Amino acid sequence: MTAGEHGTGSGRFAWPLAPVVEPAQSVHNDASVGIDERHDSRIGALWAHFERLMLAPTVVPVSQGMSRFEADVPEAYCARCGGTVGPFEQREFGCGACHTQKLKCERMVRLGAYEGDLAKWVGVLKFQRVRPYGVALGHELGRALRDAGVLDGVPAGGVVVQAVPMSRRRRMVRGIDHSQVIARAAAVELGVACATQLWREHRPSQLDVPAGRREANVKGSIRLRRNAGFEGVRVVLVDDVRTTGATMEAAARGAMGIPKGSGKPGPRGAASVWGAAVSVTPRE
Ligand SMILES: [Zn+2]
Repeated sequence: MTAGEHGTGSGRFAWPLAPVVEPAQSVHNDASVGIDERHDSRIGALWAHFERLMLAPTVVPVSQGMSRFEADVPEAYCARCGGTVGPFEQREFGCGACHTQKLKCERMVRLGAYEGDLAKWVGVLKFQRVRPYGVALGHELGRALRDAGVLDGVPAGGVVVQAVPMSRRRRMVRGIDHSQVIARAAAVELGVACATQLWREHRPSQLDVPAGRREANVKGSIRLRRNAGFEGVRVVLVDDVRTTGATMEAAARGAMGIPKGSGKPGPRGAASVWGAAVSVTPRE
């Protein structure tokens, strides 16, 4: 295996982010073109690219970037796992990909597949820490949740939004808890509380673990905080990307207070859990 092959698995976010530099910010680029011509080397081109990224990391303002965004209609994806489905695939018991899986999340809501603009915006939020994208995506997710009926038939105070938590160590490395930014905005949009009652133990990143081992990697790592509880409420777990669903399921087990090795909800657990992901990785 060569270095180039590492990390080319599906769903892996590509770094650096190439296309978000604003065209108007070309002062640095012009200066580096001269250098390129003098040296006429690939190193020069690489340097220009690096300079563009570091000196002018301007992101298109969210109002402009997301102005024409439209979330997926519910018919476009499986209500159980969030995977993209054809017109007559799925219903009631899930799609071809998930109907044999036991899922703790009663319902899955998404904005779209993890590709194109949506993948770019998630990256801008997560790796460039541009919060307005998280806020805008959160409000979109709140609207999608309302359209899907998350508040229907539930008394006031019966729905709580909670981000899929990040370990404290990862939060410090990243400098942003991006799912928390999205969750807070979704809660504002829905007019419900945003809780921080879940806690996550530090484990290797799911992105560094092969798909087959992700469930084991994350299992049991997300739990209710001491003295915290979701008794009688519907918890909406918010995340940026759903890939295998292992993290969402681990968070659902945590929210329901299900102890390790058990299938039964604990006394402090949620009455039901919904999942809400900005994007869902397309199936292979
Ligand atoms: Zn499905």
